[in-house]
Amino acid sequence: MKAVVFHGIGDIRLENAPEPRIEEKTDAIVRLTASAICGTDLHMIRGTMGNMAPGTILGHEGVGIVEEVGKQVRNFKKGDRVVIPSTIACGSCSYCRAGYFAQCDGANPNGKDAGTAFFGGPKDTGPFHGLQAEYARVPFAHVGLVKLPRQVTDDQAILISDIFPTGYFGADIADIHEGAAVAVFGCGPVGQFAIASAKLMGAGRVIAIDRIESRLEMAKEQGAEVVNFEKEDPVATIKEMTGAIGVDRAIDAVGIDAEHPFKGPAHDSKKDKEFTEQQHKIAPKQNPNGENWKPGSGPSEVLEWAIEALAKAGTLSIIGVYPLTMNAFPIGKAMNKNLSIKMGNCNHRKYVPKLVDMVRAGFIDPAIVLTKTETLTAALDAYKAFDLRQPGWMKVELRPASSTRAA
Ligand SMILES: [Zn+2]
Ligand SMILES: [Zn+2]
Repeated sequence: MKAVVFHGIGDIRLENAPEPRIEEKTDAIVRLTASAICGTDLHMIRGTMGNMAPGTILGHEGVGIVEEVGKQVRNFKKGDRVVIPSTIACGSCSYCRAGYFAQCDGANPNGKDAGTAFFGGPKDTGPFHGLQAEYARVPFAHVGLVKLPRQVTDDQAILISDIFPTGYFGADIADIHEGAAVAVFGCGPVGQFAIASAKLMGAGRVIAIDRIESRLEMAKEQGAEVVNFEKEDPVATIKEMTGAIGVDRAIDAVGIDAEHPFKGPAHDSKKDKEFTEQQHKIAPKQNPNGENWKPGSGPSEVLEWAIEALAKAGTLSIIGVYPLTMNAFPIGKAMNKNLSIKMGNCNHRKYVPKLVDMVRAGFIDPAIVLTKTETLTAALDAYKAFDLRQPGWMKVELRPASSTRAA
């Protein structure tokens, strides 16, 4: 089968990979009808999330048709149309039962403290083969798949695999009350869904911060008040907009930008240079003038902005990706403002069934952020365009060539 395979930093290839087979009785095999490229994939390709095993199939967003189920999968059958939540969880442990699917004790073969297990990630997340392929093995399929009603299209469902639930999770842990003033930092696909979710939860105002005009336009379409941080100081502007009080809730939907390789405190400059050159083979520099923040020198700029823009006793929600090696945070300012801080990897399975229902009911059409659909065989070019943030490449769906699709 065709699949997008990781070989090294800056080196991904479209190749023929062996078709997956049922390995455990709780597995299912899914024939993918849609996959997608995600900002998180860039972290793997650029090496900000290191320790990838060469040969790993990339991708953690998928929609498809059940092809085969193991003996212990009692809620699905061949032919069922499904969306695959990005993180892998057992459904049996105490964490899963409490809704903390991203902290599952049972799914990560590296042990209980190894972190969130997900498709197409580094060794410490499994590793599990990803979903940018024609077929995939889904472990713990009884909770690792969610059935799709016919009213929800593949174009809508592919956004419910990761991006929409992640934005929704960001708004959920921000504890938004009706009327709240909410700032969303980062208007990429996840940020757009954080905006949409904040509105669904009754936010009175949503202020969206980014530097890319097309993203700010999309945020404005959703009713957000927009701030371009390249044209104005985001903190001063937000203070001015909120009567010098600041926002009640802030959501960091940026994390460490994939353009800043995080190399940790000990590194030598020759290796860095080689690394950067190699990295930019597939992933050219996006913003050569914007590198005023040096990795490891302090907290990310977005965290500093968010903490300064928050009102006293406000809540910060962090859903942007930070690697394990990142250990800088503006704790002094946060402590002295009595802020609450919540963060983490999205517990996808907690939200996916509800979001499927909300899309079916017409509360929201997630396909609005989908800007491109490409065949799986064009994946490498799609990766490059996505990586360069070329206009119109906000969110890219990949369609396996062999697939027959619903609507
Ligand atoms: Zn993703
Ligand atoms: Zn579990």
